[in-house]
Amino acid sequence: MSIIKRCKALFLSDALAWLAAVTVGSMIFIINSLLEIDVAPTLLYITLVFMSANVFSIPVFLTAAISCVVILTISFIVDEGYRDQRLIAGFVRCLIALTTITLLALRSKRATDTLRRKEAFFLGAQKLSHTGSVGFIPDDEKAVSWSDESARIFEYPLDAAPTIAMIRARTHPDDLPIVESVLQQAARQECLIEVEHRLIMPDGRIKYVQMIANPLFNHGGRIEYVGALMDVTASKHAEEALFHSQAKLAHVTRVTAMSELAASIAHEINQPLAAVIASGESCKRWINRPEPNLEEARRSLDRVIQNSCRASDVIACIRALSRQSEVQRKAEAFDEIVSDSLSLMQHDTASHQVRAHLQLGASGAYIQGDRVQLQQVIINLIINACQAMANVHDRPRTLRINTSINNNEAVLEVADSGTGIAEDILTSLFDPFFTTKHNGLGMGLSICRSIIEFHGGRIGVTSTVGLGTQFFFAIPLTALTHDEQSPSAVGFGV
Ligand code: ADP
Repeated sequence: MSIIKRCKALFLSDALAWLAAVTVGSMIFIINSLLEIDVAPTLLYITLVFMSANVFSIPVFLTAAISCVVILTISFIVDEGYRDQRLIAGFVRCLIALTTITLLALRSKRATDTLRRKEAFFLGAQKLSHTGSVGFIPDDEKAVSWSDESARIFEYPLDAAPTIAMIRARTHPDDLPIVESVLQQAARQECLIEVEHRLIMPDGRIKYVQMIANPLFNHGGRIEYVGALMDVTASKHAEEALFHSQAKLAHVTRVTAMSELAASIAHEINQPLAAVIASGESCKRWINRPEPNLEEARRSLDRVIQNSCRASDVIACIRALSRQSEVQRKAEAFDEIVSDSLSLMQHDTASHQVRAHLQLGASGAYIQGDRVQLQQVIINLIINACQAMANVHDRPRTLRINTSINNNEAVLEVADSGTGIAEDILTSLFDPFFTTKHNGLGMGLSICRSIIEFHGGRIGVTSTVGLGTQFFFAIPLTALTHDEQSPSAVGFGV
């Protein structure tokens, strides 16, 4: 409703209230002058007090109530009621009733005003924070209530009576199972229901909402859930924008890391190429014999094809690392990502005289993510580990890379026997631009953290100065869909 319409409605209701008050007041006056003071006029005074309590502000209401008492007293005096014992008792009864009612009405008016003010604050806060209230009773599709802000979030008219069907109609088809799971949780009377899902508006716009609800009221055995619904679309978009900027920055650091990996890359490609040449030569020899051995020649050709594929995989992997591609989210075999990353680093670790031990304990574990980004995290952890061991001369330089499955998460641990990290800087490691290296950028670990968090995981570190450091990260596992179950992994093993 527009402000002008609201003002008009307010003015009209005020005018009607005044009219009613004047009518009741005149009736009291007439009745008072005709009848003796007793119950009937008192009831009218009480009606007037209640009316003014409902429609006027506290000062006007008090003025009306005091006026009633004054009129009552004046008519008592003018009628010389004090001469009659019975009239005095009636007057005192009226006075007590009127005062008590005035005090009670005043109390309830104050409570109502406070409630109204709180409601106004609450509605304002809901509008500003894009948070609405919702209430629903499980197993009753029509027992739904919501605040104006919730109606605005769902983009329904404010006066439309909400139903579960209306909520389903606005839910993104892919997220309908989430809404159904909320209803099932409510039917099981779970203590706290917390979900995030997408809505789709009639014009195709997507909104992200978060809902949290608790079972609060019991209506004759039927539990009502009451909670809050927040439109988090803006923060989702901001998160995405931030992630894209970070992805660009990640690309820059990846390209920087590529230059450090040049020797490893050359080695990775040289190895299969040398094997191709050797197999090609031997194939030629088998054919050039006086009696050509075609079986051996065929085997040599198989090795040529195998090694050529491997070289091509290596190049594809390097191209993927250096390309600024859009973030991909695919089901990937966790162990494969780890072993491919270490493969790329093999020459690098060797040149740092680091012995790498790889223990893969997450076979069959798949995660939903971007292979290139995760490889970047692992490569970064390995480069840091090698650098941390560069000054270690009194003990073997060992790098242990373990994968495992724990609590429905794929876990990677990268442990080195390097210099270790002092406890006071341990908490700053993941801060952007934190570095202790004179030529360091300090972005590596910060990017690692945002990549892992983007994958719904967490990253951490423990360290002992003089003994070494262990970095770990954990990413939720994913189940393979039917289409993803056909093997298509490209990579090169250790
Ligand atoms: P940069 O390598 O450019 O300094 P990072 O974000 O990768 O940036 O690392 C931040 C800091 O964390 C490093 O400067 C170093 O002090 C510390 N650090 C990271 N990994 C290790 C490690 N394995 N051992 C010791 N210190 C480490």
